[in-house]
Amino acid sequence: MSASPEVVVIGGGPSGSTASTLIAQKGHTVRLFEREAFPRFHIGESFMPDTYFPLRRLGMLDKMKASAFTKKYSVQFANDQGKESQPFYFFENNPHECTQTWQVLRSEFDHMMLNNAREHGVDVHEESRVLDVMFEGEKQTGIRVQYKDGREETLHPRVIVDASGQSSIISNRLKLKNWEPKLKKAAVWSYFKGAKREPGALDAGATLVLQLKEKKGWFWYIPQHNDIVSVGVVADLNYLFDKPAEGADAQSRLEEIFWREVENCAAVKRRIEGSERCDIYRTQKEYSYRSSKLAGDGWVLVGDAFGFLDPIYSSGLQLAFSSGTFAADCVTEGLAKNDLSAAQLGAWGPEFVKGMDRLKKFVCIYYDGFNFGYFIRKYPHMKRHVTDLLIGNVFKDALDEVWDPLYEVQRELVEKNLEPMPMASA
Ligand SMILES: Cc1cc2nc3c(=O)[nH]c(=O)nc-3n(C[C@H](O)[C@H](O)[C@H](O)COP(=O)(O)OP(=O)(O)OC[C@H]3O[C@@H](n4cnc5c(N)ncnc54)[C@H](O)[C@@H]3O)c2cc1C
Repeated sequence: MSASPEVVVIGGGPSGSTASTLIAQKGHTVRLFEREAFPRFHIGESFMPDTYFPLRRLGMLDKMKASAFTKKYSVQFANDQGKESQPFYFFENNPHECTQTWQVLRSEFDHMMLNNAREHGVDVHEESRVLDVMFEGEKQTGIRVQYKDGREETLHPRVIVDASGQSSIISNRLKLKNWEPKLKKAAVWSYFKGAKREPGALDAGATLVLQLKEKKGWFWYIPQHNDIVSVGVVADLNYLFDKPAEGADAQSRLEEIFWREVENCAAVKRRIEGSERCDIYRTQKEYSYRSSKLAGDGWVLVGDAFGFLDPIYSSGLQLAFSSGTFAADCVTEGLAKNDLSAAQLGAWGPEFVKGMDRLKKFVCIYYDGFNFGYFIRKYPHMKRHVTDLLIGNVFKDALDEVWDPLYEVQRELVEKNLEPMPMASA
């Protein structure tokens, strides 16, 4: 039996690597358990510019700059009529190097992050899974793990950071998980070699958000390195999967759904024509939820283990990095003053949840067919707030002055029965 470390982290995705690295940087013993062997597949490939700041703290910035990952300078939208907006360049509001971000291959990026954690002293165990977390009431009393060689062990760390992603180990164990009924969506996607890119170095790496006919959903179009583009459709679960996709022919059912929706989106169709599919079809369903608590005595939740919103603005990684950072700061402060209560470990919660709620409102506005172009023409001084929402700078109260005008314009559009055109001329 090995001595228990001060902190155990469950999961080696971006939120687990972030929290573990920052806690180890302060000299604490941290052991991280990851059930998979890295590199492993994961969805979630597009960054928001404000991920720059956690990446810098983690010592990842130079590694990102030296990587082959595609550089992303903008987002571009097309409406349900196929009308494409001007690119929404991040540097227009803030000429700082943070406004250039990346499109990554998650298998490579997550592996880099996990190795970075190792370099900072985290004791990483791949192919080793957490079997259970033990509690007395809501106070954690230990964690049961199984190593790669099959050996099982019970550890008694002072803090457990749950970064287990959608497995949400503690949230499920304590029944804290609440699904977001308004965001009951599904995604179907694959990868294409030789698909078209926007001309010019500035635009070639843009994320494209391309709406389906009749606004039934949207495609993401994320150019990656090695001439590959990630292409996926998101829509209401019941619309996308009007028949079950399980069973022996699940792949052909996903293929059928994917191409049915390509026919509903001319902007995607013309871009992938002549390209070669280079992966299977993949799907994820009903992924939007939030836990009713983010910390308890001796434990804290980060990243998707706490909650996930929706992929529309690529906010998942920004929330994973920021929750990992905020939580790590509360853990190290708590270890220093010997206070590992729920109040100490979750002190970052209210500000974080406010930021997440801002993004949630912004997501719901898109699905309600909001016309951002019209909004910005009417309230040009609000463009900086819209930009802040798009770059992930969401943890500040000043943003909240955007909501009254946003909802007012939404009501006006409904009354005038205007064609909604998300971001069309933003
Ligand atoms: C369709 C879709 C598209 C998306 N697109 C984007 C995007 O473009 N940009 C973006 O920023 N985000 C995107 N996201 C969100 C993004 O994928 C997640 O928010 C992000 O991966 C969260 O990171 P995490 O570290 O919290 O969890 P994860 O990355 O899921 O990592 C959790 C880790 O925990 C491990 N684990 C689980 N259980 C155990 C266990 N019992 N023991 C040990 N290890 C365990 C898993 O193997 C995994 O490696 C998308 C999500 C979806 C569903």
